[in-house]
Amino acid sequence: MNPFRYTRAGDVTEAVRLGGAARTKYLGGGTNLVDLMRETLERPTSLVDVTGLSSAIDEREDGGLRIGAAAKNTAVAEHLAVRTRYPVLSRALLAGASAQIRNMATVGGNILQRTRCTYFYDDDGSRCNKRVPGQGCDALDGFNRSHAILGASSACIATHPSDMCVALAALDATVHLEGARGARTLPFTELHRLPEDRPELETVLEPGELITAIELPALAFAARSTYRKVRDRASYAFALVSVAAALDVENGTVKDVRLALGGVAHKPWRAWKAEKVLRGQRATAQAFRAAADAELADASPLRDNGFKVELVRRTLTAVLGELAGGGA
Ligand code: SF4
Repeated sequence: MNPFRYTRAGDVTEAVRLGGAARTKYLGGGTNLVDLMRETLERPTSLVDVTGLSSAIDEREDGGLRIGAAAKNTAVAEHLAVRTRYPVLSRALLAGASAQIRNMATVGGNILQRTRCTYFYDDDGSRCNKRVPGQGCDALDGFNRSHAILGASSACIATHPSDMCVALAALDATVHLEGARGARTLPFTELHRLPEDRPELETVLEPGELITAIELPALAFAARSTYRKVRDRASYAFALVSVAAALDVENGTVKDVRLALGGVAHKPWRAWKAEKVLRGQRATAQAFRAAADAELADASPLRDNGFKVELVRRTLTAVLGELAGGGA
């Protein structure tokens, strides 16, 4: 690990002032960043510890929730309002990592965790455009079973590893940011980028910009929501595919729906096309499959991950069936 300077920020203003310096990173629970520093894939010369900033989970006047970016994953997953009004978020968090990691990891850090593409980590032997822009991507012709089937580019086919982010994408969350130019908000679905020809850029954050909070809108039917993660083993594994879904069915017809997919793209993938197909349809397995097919029409499977297309289709159909009351 390279030497670095450590400072603990007392408030957001101080954090942003310190965080604006070159080669500076914000430190949450460190469950990904410290690993990357040990591997020398990240080489900041300065860390600004933001774990002392807001970790509060507060009710909003409009019925939504505001979650401070320093809130621990465990605290969010166990919060009564999250469990009862947004079970998809609680379940996504509990599907991620291990209990020990969830106790350390913060919401802000979870959002900014980096891909687990093995070629990205293989600093000695593999080419990676995300690690060294312009170098090439050995995953393209390598073992790409865990890689993207949607929104990838010839520069990068990595997937985003977070479970929590898939739920936030489905829930129409808003991200609160603070930077040198002041405060701003962004729809969560616009925070992460697709790789295009700049895979080293993973979000639209400006240099030194800090995530301060997440807001969940009031969404009554999110009480009928869930998260299903398909992975190679029962715990402590990243998603091959995952589905976050909330469903509002009235008299057998889909009144409204929110859907997002994990393990399939460089960012949490909001399934806008599937949602559009479903609204106003009878809540049947046939309609659920048609929605999945609409979303997957643009899928571009690679040599080793063609199974993900059918896995998404089946998982999405099963999850919607479960939420509609027809079982899994
Ligand atoms: Fe790097 Fe992306 Fe290629 Fe993986 S898929 S080796 S992260 S460029």
